Amino acid sequence: MYFEYLEQQNLEQVLFCHDADVGLKAIIAIHSTALGPALGGVRFFPYVDDEAALVDVARLAEGMTYKAAVAGLDLGGGKSVIIGDPREIRTEALIRAFGRHIASLGGRYITAEDVGTTRDDMDLIHRETQWVTGTSPFLGGSDDPSPVTAFGVEVSMRAAAEHRWGSQSLADRHVAVQGVGKVGYSLVRFLIDDGARVTVADRSPDAVERCVHDFGCETAGCAEILTLDCDVLAPCALGGIFDDALVEDLRCELICGAANNQLVTEEIGESLRKREILYTPDFVVNAGGLINVAMELEGYDRDRAMQKVEQIGATTTAILRLADAEAISTAVAARRVAEERIRAISRLQHMRSPGGHDRN
Ligand code: NAD
Repeated sequence: MYFEYLEQQNLEQVLFCHDADVGLKAIIAIHSTALGPALGGVRFFPYVDDEAALVDVARLAEGMTYKAAVAGLDLGGGKSVIIGDPREIRTEALIRAFGRHIASLGGRYITAEDVGTTRDDMDLIHRETQWVTGTSPFLGGSDDPSPVTAFGVEVSMRAAAEHRWGSQSLADRHVAVQGVGKVGYSLVRFLIDDGARVTVADRSPDAVERCVHDFGCETAGCAEILTLDCDVLAPCALGGIFDDALVEDLRCELICGAANNQLVTEEIGESLRKREILYTPDFVVNAGGLINVAMELEGYDRDRAMQKVEQIGATTTAILRLADAEAISTAVAARRVAEERIRAISRLQHMRSPGGHDRN
């Protein structure tokens, strides 16, 4: 049954990690190492059962493969989950035990921060293995990726604006931002600097208040922000947002935000296309965070990371044009670009190059 599942999900490897003494139950999923080691964060979450954890980690690992491929990185896709409530079971020993399991993979999987884990956790993992990013700067880490991710969203939004309206300018465009946490708040700052009119919504009244105070943003309720009459909708909260019912009610012309897995299914991309709403694929838009931590593997330099993130603009344009040319949804176009790069680079492996990096 399990191998059938791996085949269905096209997973290379799944490692179940267990240590009863410290209460560790974790799963590491490697979706693809065709382009390089699989980099993806570790999520610490109280899943209802083991199956829910496996389904989530498999889905997230696949997403990382596409994100890295489209971003032009020499990285594959992977992800891991620790099962349990971090507030109840997190201990130094548990996190370090997990680090040892990562070490056992010898660099096939590289971890990073994700929901439920922190930079301190990455520092603990670093005590057990070098295959970790997002550590403290004194350990070579790149610090909070959120401002870099937000910069990537802005760059992508400008490219999409040009595609849609013939100008990169966001001046006087009305942008509705759902979720003004770490990424959303930084994005609002960029948008205000660009001269955009910004309306924000967040479950946290404090987060909304901060945007009103710092930038003079307009506000909307969490229920109304998604269907606000605006130019751009920027989802920066959680994934699983757009389904057929919501697509019917949308009143924006462009969607471009940081949240992962925004479409409930890839087919929703087609519904958006039919409604002539330009959807900028999430894993293209939000790759800044991944690009940022990937730079740690070469010795981190923020200026170089920002330059690399700026390329998200050209990637966005190429994908939007491909979708137009082929009359396909932008979601399908983005996946196609990722799959084609993976295929093309994988083919090179038939040729050994004694003078090259010989990564394989
Ligand atoms: P965050 O937790 O700091 O912010 C999310 C905000 O959304 C919070 O303020 C929360 O209160 C709010 N929120 C949650 N549900 C909401 C709802 N239904 N309506 C309105 N507000 C709601 O997270 P973040 O780091 O800013 O990440 C935001 C999204 O971007 C996530 O989906 C994340 O996976 C994705 N992402 C983040 C990064 C990064 O660098 N942090 C990189 C890539 C992708």
